[in-house]
Amino acid sequence: MSKNLTKRAEDYSKWYNELVVKADLAENSGVRGCMVIKPYGYAIWEKMQAELDRMFKETGHSNAYFPLFVPKSMFEAEEKNAEGFAKECAIVTHYRLKTDESKPGKLMVDPNAKLEEELIVRPTSEAIIWSTYKNWVQSYRDLPLLINQWANVVRWEMRTRLFLRTAEFLWQEGHTAHATKQEALAETVQMMNVYADFAENFMAIPVVKGVKTETERFAGADETYCIEALMQDGKALQAGTSHFLGQNFAKAFDVKFASQEGKQEYVWGTSWGVSTRLMGALIMTHSDDLGLVLPPNVAPIQVVIVPIFRSDEELDKISAVANELQAKFRKLGISVKFDNRTTQKPGFKFAEWELKGVPVRIAIGPKDLENGTFEVARRDNLTKEVVSAEGVTTYIAELLEQIQQNLFAKALDYRNTYITEVDNFEDFKEVLDGKGGFVSAHWDGTTETEEKIKELTKATIRCIPLDRKEEEGVCVFSGKPSNGRVLFAKAY
Ligand code: AMP
Repeated sequence: MSKNLTKRAEDYSKWYNELVVKADLAENSGVRGCMVIKPYGYAIWEKMQAELDRMFKETGHSNAYFPLFVPKSMFEAEEKNAEGFAKECAIVTHYRLKTDESKPGKLMVDPNAKLEEELIVRPTSEAIIWSTYKNWVQSYRDLPLLINQWANVVRWEMRTRLFLRTAEFLWQEGHTAHATKQEALAETVQMMNVYADFAENFMAIPVVKGVKTETERFAGADETYCIEALMQDGKALQAGTSHFLGQNFAKAFDVKFASQEGKQEYVWGTSWGVSTRLMGALIMTHSDDLGLVLPPNVAPIQVVIVPIFRSDEELDKISAVANELQAKFRKLGISVKFDNRTTQKPGFKFAEWELKGVPVRIAIGPKDLENGTFEVARRDNLTKEVVSAEGVTTYIAELLEQIQQNLFAKALDYRNTYITEVDNFEDFKEVLDGKGGFVSAHWDGTTETEEKIKELTKATIRCIPLDRKEEEGVCVFSGKPSNGRVLFAKAY
């Protein structure tokens, strides 16, 4: 099975597309730019969702749900936001079809069913939510509002790729309202930190925390914080964003509150989101030429047991041991599958579970029954070990923890070797076209230089890292003074 997978070194992009389909994660649908997420892929997304949801609730947020459609006049209210998303909006203009008299069996848009006001299919929900917040906020006692929604949004993307960029995608969007600027800023930073914690400690994806430049900032925000990851082909991927909205939406939707001093003031806002793009980040951070590699935290199946047998009698004996083992794993909260299919050979099963990225495989044969052992194979480093049946559950529980740590360490090591400091434009171009990865360089702070560099090299400023050193230097492109380095990269 895995034999058919294109190698990363041959064609990275082809490898990715094949892997998503062959590992049963998702596939293209009959709808332009929209994907079908298959059960195995959705099970991974559900694990991510559950952990994020837990983290949001732990930080005081509650879930709610708002409509899919936004009336055009409402959408327009915050001008910058509307302008920023205008080019990628799907619009509902009619509400009924009718039989096409001239073409039997065909339907046509009923011209008599034109909507008085067009509806925009939400590309993001600030407009609908802030128009609602107007009714929810009267006094400082109503604040803060700490709301999250799990939803789908539509952005009419021209070039789409499974998980990474789709026209419809699943995400969560947090929308909070606060009495003070400081509180809203603290919330924005807190949620960026929640995302970074989630990416690193749950998905084993190292990220750089930073702020976006004005060009890359969310339309309608005063500041965009982000987490940026690096994929194995040296391209960067924006893994999550947290926006400080200032009072922009409060002013657009007239959301005011009576302060403790009895003054009418505009509310301060934030919004933050991560999407199914994180699935793409997960795949491209850890997987190899044999298929998917999943960190145990997100793996729908953490341990697979494969019996090696020649007769029904042998299978029965192995099954008895395997069933006992499964019960023990389940007690420890470890998800396990016993692959007792008689229609496939062990070699086929090994390849299949490798392709699907199951972190640990246990093989049990007649010899193991005699010796009281199991063969334990790790997906992350492809090593095998014979382990005594006694205490095997604790051994595996510890092994899963070790695999989780190892995947993060490996990815971190890779990421760190792909941050290259350069001090002139020749080196800048050479690193981008050769080694790839993040290029850490001085920038004069102007949009003009940023755009010129993008035009010449396709690299964008991924972020101004939060932990950067203050360092006097000169811009790699213009030679003008700069007081710190930013991270450039080609990006997804
Ligand atoms: P934004 O609202 O633009 O800040 O995006 C929120 C999150 O959704 C970010 O993590 C983006 O990387 C992600 N995202 C944006 N556009 C898409 C898309 N077309 N498909 C999947 N994820 C996306």
